Amino acid sequence: MKYAELKKIKDEVLVLKDSPLYKYRIENGYFPVIGEGSHDARIMFIGEAPGRNEAKTGRPFCGAAGKILDDLLRGVGIDRKDVYVTNIVKDRPQENRDPLPSEIEIYGPFLDKQIEIIKPQVIATLGRYSYGYIMKKFDLDLEIEPIGKAHGKSYDAEASYGPVKIVALYHPAVAIYNRATLGTLKNDFEILKTVTIA
Ligand code: URA
Repeated sequence: MKYAELKKIKDEVLVLKDSPLYKYRIENGYFPVIGEGSHDARIMFIGEAPGRNEAKTGRPFCGAAGKILDDLLRGVGIDRKDVYVTNIVKDRPQENRDPLPSEIEIYGPFLDKQIEIIKPQVIATLGRYSYGYIMKKFDLDLEIEPIGKAHGKSYDAEASYGPVKIVALYHPAVAIYNRATLGTLKNDFEILKTVTIA
């Protein structure tokens, strides 16, 4: 059932000709990146948008940032196959530029559906774009802070299927350019061991 519902999302994104990123995908022979992992995951990780490796394979976080994510998960004893990993924007923006508001707007509803299908108890946002999107989606606009302040914090929210915790994390890619933030990321990931629904 969940499989069929998620497959429907994939089928729809495949033919999303209205997306400003559709033409770029087709011209480069890229794949959309829908998401990967357990359909019954307790934790859903939401990144920004696929990079080159991801668009070439159709798999989220399989490049350099993915290696860091894998290490961070291992560090807190979480198996990647037990979580679900996705992005807000499902197609690669040109040269890894930041996603545009119009792109977040067109792909956001697909992420919303993924949340409804998988029903995670914990939504871990990776980076400021997914943090901003998820905080607004759950009516926490007033609590939004710059990611430099928000990282490592958790927020209580209410999903259609019950309570959910939002955990704000830095994007793992920051550790590629700034190794010092790796320690902060490791520290922030510790929260995932303890967050539970009250
Ligand atoms: N960065 C992201 O935000 N998502 C990916 O899937 C890969 C890199």
